[in-house]
Amino acid sequence: MNFHDLRIIVGQIKKSIACPKCKATYHDEDIEVIGNLSEEHSFFHAACGECNSESVINVTLEYPEHDHSLTLPKLGSAPRLGNISVNDVLDMRNFLKSFKGDFKELLS
Ligand SMILES: [Zn+2]
Repeated sequence: MNFHDLRIIVGQIKKSIACPKCKATYHDEDIEVIGNLSEEHSFFHAACGECNSESVINVTLEYPEHDHSLTLPKLGSAPRLGNISVNDVLDMRNFLKSFKGDFKELLS
């Protein structure tokens, strides 16, 4: 996952995912990277700016054979991860400090 991918993923999250509680959409500053399981699989944390509820989004990237400049993120929500709670994920985020997770700084 590179900077190009990050921009696409954040754009995709803002476009297609809403707060499960109040249905508000997310903004750049609400979304941060938790960490990557692999090149294609990463986790994002989103905190709703309206109601403060937190959710975890898992992202799978697909790079089509014929065009490696194209990134197709597939977004899923946390329940598919099983019994991982937001706190577990926040612990994991503390553990994985390769990225500061500040999209506002990154995208400006
Ligand atoms: Zn909300």
